[in-house]
Amino acid sequence: KNTSLRKVWNEADVVRTLPIRKRSSHKGTYGKGLVIGGSRNMTGAVTMTAKAALRSGAGLLTMAVPNDIYSVVATHVPEVMYHPCSSMNGCFAGEIDFDNLDIDAIAVGPGMGRTLGTKSVVQKVLCQDVPVVLDADALYFWKDYVSIVNERKQATIVTPHPGEMARMIDVSIHDIEKDRFGISRQFAMEYGVYLVLKGPYTIVTTPDGKQYVNTTGNPALAKGGSGDVLTGMILAFMMQHANIQEAISNAVFVHGKAADVLIEKGHSPLDVLATDVIEAIPQTLFLLY
Ligand code: AMP
Ligand code: MG
Repeated sequence: KNTSLRKVWNEADVVRTLPIRKRSSHKGTYGKGLVIGGSRNMTGAVTMTAKAALRSGAGLLTMAVPNDIYSVVATHVPEVMYHPCSSMNGCFAGEIDFDNLDIDAIAVGPGMGRTLGTKSVVQKVLCQDVPVVLDADALYFWKDYVSIVNERKQATIVTPHPGEMARMIDVSIHDIEKDRFGISRQFAMEYGVYLVLKGPYTIVTTPDGKQYVNTTGNPALAKGGSGDVLTGMILAFMMQHANIQEAISNAVFVHGKAADVLIEKGHSPLDVLATDVIEAIPQTLFLLY
């Protein structure tokens, strides 16, 4: 019989666990994060991931992008450091050099493309001894990562929408929707990962099978870019917080709440852009602090 915890992660939980910024702190106190992603056809995704991380308190952020889109991305995000990587046909060629990078958390995937170069970069990322968030195209070759994931000592966080989840475990989207809780728990426990199964009522499942359900958010988020924003928020919250489940659940809550705030403050569910959600993070956090 399964007796693992299942609960709604509510506003009181968020307020209780949001990171506090101490007066004596400096940028290094709030973590050194790395966002990896982007390709010639998708320069915006990784840009939004980085901006969302910055709006969510990330201390120091570096972006690793294929070098032929570096100048485009750098025009849009002045607050980060850059780590351009070799590129092939507008995507990562497969190399990424961690030697001179001082990093304590990584998010990888947004806008990378589904290439062998992506696969090679993700495999190298998973060999780093820091928490890693895998999203979007970093989930595409999931089965090729399983043996590395099993060896990891730091947390692995995977953030699929139902379509990505279906592909990862070879079932239909309908199968996922029929049993979101059961499939999430089975997956998280089998691979020892934190699973964020997105959609209305996003479920965060810990490696030991505890489940936390989110109730914020609305169909304004059903638009390209929403997930890329969430990934940046998860990275930033993890950089600032020792408890990974709390960091993830708080990011999911604030992401949805930002979309709710936009609807309350004069937007319709049709017009909200992913970049609007990023710009609504400040007023959303203001409500929670
Ligand atoms: P992605 O599909 O990767 O862009 O991620 C979409 C993001 O938007 C996830 O965080 C989803 O939970 C959220 N989202 C999409 N549609 C809805 C909806 N109808 N209600 C609430 N959240 C949604
Ligand atoms: Mg996505």
